[in-house]
Amino acid sequence: MAEQGQLIVYYGCMFAGKTTALIDYISNANLKPNELLVFKPGIDNRAAKNIITTHDGKKHECLSLDHETVLSDLVTPYTKLIAFDEAQFFDKIIFSEIKRLLAKGISIVAAGLDKDYLARPFGLMPLLMQNATELYELNAKCDCCGSKANHTFRKETNKVLVLIGSENYYEARCADCYQIGVEIGTQA
Ligand SMILES: [Zn+2]
Repeated sequence: MAEQGQLIVYYGCMFAGKTTALIDYISNANLKPNELLVFKPGIDNRAAKNIITTHDGKKHECLSLDHETVLSDLVTPYTKLIAFDEAQFFDKIIFSEIKRLLAKGISIVAAGLDKDYLARPFGLMPLLMQNATELYELNAKCDCCGSKANHTFRKETNKVLVLIGSENYYEARCADCYQIGVEIGTQA
């Protein structure tokens, strides 16, 4: 039996440096290219299809995983680590595959939003967090008061949940400023 793989999860609000943490983890793992798979969800079209980028300009090559792609088909006997950026957008169905891969001794590192802009648990993230062997909360700085932020606040009243964007639509806020913003709508 292979030793169980590690499940490392970075979570937090937007602008908390999650992708940076993910890229740093990948870099520090010092793996050969064929030992590593990096995925972002197929819906993330902020940047080129095969690159994950951070707000501060770090980059890493990746594959785009859509609903038709079967994760296990891309795994080879050499695969040691699989990384997921924007993990909240992956289908929950993928978790059973992740468990199988962990049991085979492959480690998983994931970064994502734990809460959507309505402060609800976001997609695949709760499952990953509950099962993590290493769990790291990352915080941003509140755009209103400068204290520790763990909420994502949407500035526009666009009803589409999956509005991929950045500074134009979202702010990082502490719990208090988030609540104030929700109460007074978008005037803040
Ligand atoms: Zn605040």
